[in-house]
Amino acid sequence: MAEIYEIKDDDGIVLEVLGTDDEPAGDGGGEAPSDAVPTETPPAAPQAAPEPTAALSIASRGSWGARYPDGDLTLTGPAVEVFVHHTVTAQLSPDASIAAEAEQMRALESVGQSRFGTGISYNVIIFPSGRAYQGVSWNRRGTHTGGRNSTSRSICFAGNYETSTPTAAQISTAAAIYREGKDRWWTQGAPLQGHRDVSQTACPGRHLYARIDDIRTGSGSTPPSPGEPGGLVVDGFWGSATTGRLQQELGTPVDGVVSSQSAYWRDRNPGLTTGWQWVSDADGSLVIAALQRRIGMDSGQRDGKIGPQTIRALQGYLGTPVDGVISRESQAVMALQGRLNAGRV
Ligand SMILES: [Zn+2]
Repeated sequence: MAEIYEIKDDDGIVLEVLGTDDEPAGDGGGEAPSDAVPTETPPAAPQAAPEPTAALSIASRGSWGARYPDGDLTLTGPAVEVFVHHTVTAQLSPDASIAAEAEQMRALESVGQSRFGTGISYNVIIFPSGRAYQGVSWNRRGTHTGGRNSTSRSICFAGNYETSTPTAAQISTAAAIYREGKDRWWTQGAPLQGHRDVSQTACPGRHLYARIDDIRTGSGSTPPSPGEPGGLVVDGFWGSATTGRLQQELGTPVDGVVSSQSAYWRDRNPGLTTGWQWVSDADGSLVIAALQRRIGMDSGQRDGKIGPQTIRALQGYLGTPVDGVISRESQAVMALQGRLNAGRV
């Protein structure tokens, strides 16, 4: 018999429903013991940061300390559908540590284990940082999409996207995973759908559901893999792809996001597009600080914040007209993108 587990909000809306399938898949093998208990292996210490978006990298189950069974049986053949979900667990910040994310993974695993006895429910979980973690293995059956677990796979966002909006880094990572999985984990034509398309649930939440086309088409602008020559479209708009390449080039963490920038400058610089985190009280970002260093600004001026002074210095460095503004189709951004494609900033 199929079992389900619902997560509701205060109004009784079913934000997520986890469930098993009615029947086991045809020729699956490797049934996990029904009375599975945690293994003796202690959780592994959180390990090296997975690269979020540049090269598709999914942190292993061991990296976050999986303790319970890896699903209930082995699936053969690629999936024919892919579903987007949300966890409705803690909403971590884009700056959350790997340790905090690993802890959330173990918490999520405990939920699936306590309800169904088969460990974590979803195949891959993406945090607001853009980092992705392996849940139930791609070839093992989880409990993400009740009745369809044997024929589908799941891409899940950590948090509640009925109330929060997904980050650019999350969309970018999800797009990379969906693309990477074609002919590998699912058929080339496997449709990407929201859980709500097939079940009575709000999952994956309205804000994430609205972005499924972006994940499908990859228009979340995914930075190319390191070592891949060129790759950036030279369009004069500075979005997350340009930031991702710049981060690779300058050796700062690669997530395609320029964190903590003053919202005051957003509308004054229309050429700054996706992946800019605009806040009222800016702390600056590592990639801008590294850029300020690269273009020769004095150490006292390297505050990690974009603004007229930094833009003027950048324009002077690139040899484009100096006006202190990043306009749409900015010549300075085109020059920067051209240099990034050539591997010399
Ligand atoms: Zn769901």
